[in-house]
Amino acid sequence: MATVFTKIIKGEIPCYKIAETEDFFAFLDINPNAKGHTLCVPKKEVNKLLDLDEETYTGLMQFARKIGFAIEKTIPCNRVGMTIIGLEVPHVHVHLIPLNTMEDMSFSKKVKLTSEEFQKIASAIRENID
Ligand code: AMP
Repeated sequence: MATVFTKIIKGEIPCYKIAETEDFFAFLDINPNAKGHTLCVPKKEVNKLLDLDEETYTGLMQFARKIGFAIEKTIPCNRVGMTIIGLEVPHVHVHLIPLNTMEDMSFSKKVKLTSEEFQKIASAIRENID
């Protein structure tokens, strides 16, 4: 069965889209640790990071780096953190999280945003992609 992220990529489930290339897709995490928390995923549906072929692995990192720069330009923060977990959604994804404290990486501290706020953040990040 297709993962929730494949459904997002295909446009079957809505998302706050940030960017798309032939092979990768970025959108805001719906339950963010911090404003601007973004997920970068390969369109290829693979469960675990280390099961990606090397080209997709390095391509994903290059894509996430580009999106990370745009997040850093958009969201006031100390730095953008990166983590890969995948225990909830079995489709490789890189979390990019604007950080001010260690707690922002903990996945226990969440921020609530309205749809308008999500849209505003996504649009601002999109505008800062080089
Ligand atoms: P994990 O698989 O543990 O790395 O976590 C999956 C992440 O995907 C969580 O941070 C969720 O909030 C996020 N997530 C799950 N469903 C959606 C969705 N439909 N749109 C955006 N983010 C999602």
